[in-house]
Amino acid sequence: MSDTTLTIIKPDAFGSGKAGRILAHLEQEGFEIVAARVTHLGVAEAGEFYAVHRERPFFGSLVEFMTSGRCMPIVLRRENAVAHLRRVIGATDPTEAEEGTVRAIYAESKERNAIHASDSDENAAVEVSFFFPGTDLI
Ligand code: GDP
Repeated sequence: MSDTTLTIIKPDAFGSGKAGRILAHLEQEGFEIVAARVTHLGVAEAGEFYAVHRERPFFGSLVEFMTSGRCMPIVLRRENAVAHLRRVIGATDPTEAEEGTVRAIYAESKERNAIHASDSDENAAVEVSFFFPGTDLI
């Protein structure tokens, strides 16, 4: 059970000034910010990050969205980080997200859904290295 996970405040939420409120929400849930940066993903980078969805009909639109503005990748730490963060962000589609979850509060649509969270310990490790290669995560 990993205590480290990766989140991204996506371009819809970052661009509309919701990063501070989302970070406060995550801190209130007991997450500690271990590393963070602001970046503007390129098409190749976004495509690589979401490579698992390459064959899906929404892939092109997802890459376009993720490259449409700046976003904020963040490494978070707390006990049982991966599973807890998935609960805190809510379902992919905000109309299905539980009340009080980050997506229920901040997401605009199933695609423009404010936040990413790693979905397994294995993916958390891969995604942390993707955005913070060689970083000493103390
Ligand atoms: P997540 O783990 O909850 O983020 O969901 P997925 O891994 O299934 O999908 C990755 C991202 O692709 C989601 O967060 C959405 O931004 C986007 N996405 C997922 N499903 C759809 C869809 O049916 N249509 C569109 N347009 N985007 C989608």
